[in-house]
Amino acid sequence: MSSSDSLDDEQARTLGEATRLILDARATAAGMLADAGIDPGPGDPRNSDGFLGPCTRVLSPGPPLVRCGCNLFSPAGGSDFCVSHYDDHTAPDFGVGPAIRICGHSRESHLSI
Ligand SMILES: [Zn+2]
Ligand SMILES: [Zn+2]
Repeated sequence: MSSSDSLDDEQARTLGEATRLILDARATAAGMLADAGIDPGPGDPRNSDGFLGPCTRVLSPGPPLVRCGCNLFSPAGGSDFCVSHYDDHTAPDFGVGPAIRICGHSRESHLSI
């Protein structure tokens, strides 16, 4: 999937709708399994939504473009924004060593289809 930073408004809206559909479908599927007494299997409890993985948002501006460094979507208090911490060796502090940053990206940034 290419960077969502380059999406136009309509594409961004479509992505948002697709995300919502997937999340709804996932919740429905999880409910079905639970109702049937089926264990969906091992998984990271922080990543209970199986479609949400490493953040794919590309950080910009400033070359080189790098992927956001967080590993998994980790909302705080049910927020839609990721609060994962990660080492940022590029922006915005060029040349002054690693900085710890919070992902802060939306749920959509973590969507892998
Ligand atoms: Zn991120
Ligand atoms: Zn994140």
